[in-house]
Amino acid sequence: MKYLRKIDYDSYILELIKISEDSNNVLVKNIGSSPKGRDIFKVSLDGGYDNILIVSGHHGDEIAAPMAILNFIHEWKLLSEKPFNITLFPLINPDGYENGTRENSNSIDLNRQYSNTTEVEIKLVLENLNINYIAAFDFHEALDECAGFFCCESPQATTDLFDSESIVSRISIKYPIARGGIVRNKNKEGSFRNFCDENEIYSLTFESPGQWEIRRRIELLLFSLYSIL
Ligand SMILES: [Zn+2]
Repeated sequence: MKYLRKIDYDSYILELIKISEDSNNVLVKNIGSSPKGRDIFKVSLDGGYDNILIVSGHHGDEIAAPMAILNFIHEWKLLSEKPFNITLFPLINPDGYENGTRENSNSIDLNRQYSNTTEVEIKLVLENLNINYIAAFDFHEALDECAGFFCCESPQATTDLFDSESIVSRISIKYPIARGGIVRNKNKEGSFRNFCDENEIYSLTFESPGQWEIRRRIELLLFSLYSIL
């Protein structure tokens, strides 16, 4: 694992661009900028036939999530098996990330903005979803008292292609599991998960325990990403 702790926004973008220049199946595209003028990027990883969607960085203070994704993008070209084409939005809230805040610079929670959004970050994400996804994965951190990994499963959309029970069981070999492993509570209005349900895209939200030291959280989220491939 190359990136072991948070790097600042400018370094993050430089790394992304460097990785794409280094690899012919990692495409990085600038799709527009945040209210404070920070660019937002979409990354396409070419691999298989089916398309999956991965997002992270809705909440700027949940820093292990975008760092795990950056490691994954860096490692993509080393993978011998690439079963999917992956569309990634690794850092949806760059202003929050830079300032260490959950919300964006307008004090808005971007993970409640997927219906009738007022925020440019989510408008850009929605404008750049252009293909059929067989599943979506959203990366977060539980900043309250939490003893291990858990995920939240879309309560309505289903799939035969991913089995949350076996994903969690693979992760449990290496990491403690909290909250029963899989939470299937009601969708919050305007959340990414709700958006996926409404569009019949099966989704899982991955959560690492925010109290752990950063390196272990990044490792856990990266490991959870590999557990879906
Ligand atoms: Zn979050």
